[in-house]
Amino acid sequence: MKGDGRLGHDLDPGDRAPQDACGVFGVWAPGEDVSKLTYYGLYALQHRGQESAGIAVSEGSRILIYKDMGLVAQVFDESILGTLRGHLAIGHCRYSTTGSSVWENAQPTLSSSEGGGLALAHNGNLINTAELMERLPAGAIKATTDTEVLTALLAQDGSRPVEEAAAELFPEVKGAYSLVWMNETTLFAARDPQGIRPLVLGRLPGTANVGQDRAGNEKTGWVVASETAALDIVGASFVREIEPGELLTIDERGVRSLRFATPEPKGCLFEYVYLARPDTTIAGRGVQATRVEVGRALAREHPVEADLVIPTPESGTPAAIGYAEQSGIPYGQGLVKNSYVGRTFIQPSQTIRQLGIRLKLNPLREVIEGKRLVVVDDSIVRGNTQRAIVKMLREAGATEVHVRISSPPVAWPCFYGIDFATRAELIAGSLSVEEIRASLGADSLGYISLDGLTQATTIPADRLCRACFDGRYPIPIDQDRIGKYVLEAQR
Ligand code: SF4
Repeated sequence: MKGDGRLGHDLDPGDRAPQDACGVFGVWAPGEDVSKLTYYGLYALQHRGQESAGIAVSEGSRILIYKDMGLVAQVFDESILGTLRGHLAIGHCRYSTTGSSVWENAQPTLSSSEGGGLALAHNGNLINTAELMERLPAGAIKATTDTEVLTALLAQDGSRPVEEAAAELFPEVKGAYSLVWMNETTLFAARDPQGIRPLVLGRLPGTANVGQDRAGNEKTGWVVASETAALDIVGASFVREIEPGELLTIDERGVRSLRFATPEPKGCLFEYVYLARPDTTIAGRGVQATRVEVGRALAREHPVEADLVIPTPESGTPAAIGYAEQSGIPYGQGLVKNSYVGRTFIQPSQTIRQLGIRLKLNPLREVIEGKRLVVVDDSIVRGNTQRAIVKMLREAGATEVHVRISSPPVAWPCFYGIDFATRAELIAGSLSVEEIRASLGADSLGYISLDGLTQATTIPADRLCRACFDGRYPIPIDQDRIGKYVLEAQR
């Protein structure tokens, strides 16, 4: 079972949610409990990957890594964190976009050379992994991920400073990569020239025991994270986004920036639709505010006469609030979610399995009965979830069910770190909106337009990746050479 059991899509095991690539976190803060800061940072990023979690630390002379399959809270406890001591750390929570979900592929990855050790955590997906693999000696890596290839390539030349080797390598690396990595003394971070996945820099206030540098300036602690929500949880203030094509080096001399490529920003539009936390800010725009605004635009684009607007909990909630505000139709909670059922490790019996979506959602009959409903969700992948919801609402007495979706039809797969279904499995890959409506059994169906969604982000269209909606991939794709199991296929 994928997902954290709280996101709207994972209501039906047969209609898997779009899975994000991962969450990454890094901290440089002498005198602080860096493993605990990393733990809490990963905790805030758990929605970005629930298959495995790991933390690497160093106290200046050697790197220690602990990682395992499972959620952050399942992998780590006080005693494990107590053994992970040092002044810098990186962490990772993973969903597999290249390579299977097995322990060997959990991150951070570790590689060593005569220059020392290197641990790396990656959010995104590379599209020229097979080509990069050819630069390594045969048998150089055991794992099956693009991240392992990148780690081995970065560690390959131990005779040069890490940032120098990285700045030379990165222009050859194609695809999405928001990276944090470390050697024994230094924290590094970098973002691909398109900046597809988010990555932010934060500062720890009043960091204890850090002292002053030789010039008498107060030293401080630094944090790098996939989302601003992870800065908030550790009490770090937001400094800025790491720029597309930028590499940061963080040590006792502070933060140094190096540009390894000209920025060509193409941030992922789907982060706003579904992937990022609502309390995160991307490119200066709050995700929750964007989602509510999309709901308003949806009401303008697809009005309907109805008695109640309800969300598919929880991912449809902000857009449903916006739809209700704009349309003047009352907002209500018509479906109650068993929030944590997606994480049960007890296999359901056949009888229970037949309940399908009822295991996760229960309609509030007294709210729904006799009403014309607008049901708002964030996106449709295969359509199984929405079909089951429409049926359930009708059985609970709804007289009409109008489905409104706060993203345009998802018709194309993502090669930059989100594991959608294939084009053949995506319902909008082959059916028209009217055919999808009929397939869901809804009275009407309305998707926000691509322009409407883009405007709600306040980011110009040419600075966004929108490929899963319009099929225009900002980094050219060689479909024959990529795929989740590309490295396993080569064996
Ligand atoms: S294809 Fe879609 S999910 Fe993938 S990076 Fe582009 S906008 Fe994001």
